[in-house]
Amino acid sequence: MDIAIIGSGITGLACARRLTDAGLMPKVFDKGRGIGGRLATRRADGGLQFDHGAQMIPQNLPAFGDVLEQAEAAGFVTKWAHSDGSLRHVGIPGMTGFAKFLGQDLDMHQATEIKSLTQDVDGWGIYAEQSVGRFDRVVCTAPSPQTAKLAGHALTQSLDTVSYDPSLTLMVALNCDLDAPATQTNPTDAFAWVAHDSAKPGRSSHNCWVVQASAEWSNVHLELTKDQIATLMLDLFLTHFGLSPTDVVHASAHRWRYAFVTKPLGQPFVTSPDNSLYAGGDWCLGPRIEHAWQSGTAIADDILRAL
Ligand SMILES: Cc1cc2nc3c(=O)[nH]c(=O)nc-3n(C[C@H](O)[C@H](O)[C@H](O)COP(=O)(O)OP(=O)(O)OC[C@H]3O[C@@H](n4cnc5c(N)ncnc54)[C@H](O)[C@@H]3O)c2cc1C
Repeated sequence: MDIAIIGSGITGLACARRLTDAGLMPKVFDKGRGIGGRLATRRADGGLQFDHGAQMIPQNLPAFGDVLEQAEAAGFVTKWAHSDGSLRHVGIPGMTGFAKFLGQDLDMHQATEIKSLTQDVDGWGIYAEQSVGRFDRVVCTAPSPQTAKLAGHALTQSLDTVSYDPSLTLMVALNCDLDAPATQTNPTDAFAWVAHDSAKPGRSSHNCWVVQASAEWSNVHLELTKDQIATLMLDLFLTHFGLSPTDVVHASAHRWRYAFVTKPLGQPFVTSPDNSLYAGGDWCLGPRIEHAWQSGTAIADDILRAL
């Protein structure tokens, strides 16, 4: 059976991993250069590195805990004791470590943005700039507004009830010590999260920090350019910590338009009437990596059950 998976975030990778382990050979397409989606690690000049997407991998489901244990035993994730004393998994040497664990030996096609899907008697035709093939099953794991645009016409239900908060994120590297906890939640009205990224295990000795704006601040400033966002957030960061611009060796920003699911669909996936098209993502079940893994795994199990 020919299966295409759109998206190499955790939903797409979990689905592809389960199908591949069962002996199928799905092809995974993603518009990004690297795998992991919102589990992302940005590198910058001078050996700097920032986890500018997901920060830690919380776990409640025992089955997901088993996967994290395997990833830890294989050296792709480890535990981090952060400021509140609790232990959480993080990827090594960056958060994408966990995506790389799931993505081992998969048939991946990065830098391939899928623009349209069409169904006929021979199955699904998938098109990027040109056709990337015909498939018996298609799994779309883009955020719900993008999935609705690409595949909504063929799904049995609307995805309109799903909602997200955006997150504007500042990456900043300093040339001086900063006397602050390794992680802080809501330190100001504008900031929801400040983390000393370099304090995580397995990172270089650089002094890199990641700051996520609050949902309110992100919504107000969402359409600014990334340079404007970096300038505004850096100014707030320097003021809050009593630093000066000469302490900064790098500052850049990232816009996550669909960052945190605030209202999930409430079921693990959606299909077309004939069950040949699947759509899933964290947006099905909740705001975390674990929810993405759960959705992707449930889709794979459903495909395998019907074989
Ligand atoms: C700033 C931030 C911090 C977070 N912190 C945490 C945290 O600490 N812990 C936690 O558990 N969760 C956190 N999350 C949420 C977590 O990252 C997500 O729940 C999870 O990564 C979602 O995975 P996904 O595969 O469903 O979606 P995504 O990771 O968004 O993957 C979807 C993929 O589809 C691709 N795609 C989209 N359209 C197309 C197309 N047309 N063609 C090809 N490819 C396409 C995208 O490039 C992307 O790679 C955070 C998210 C953000 C943004």
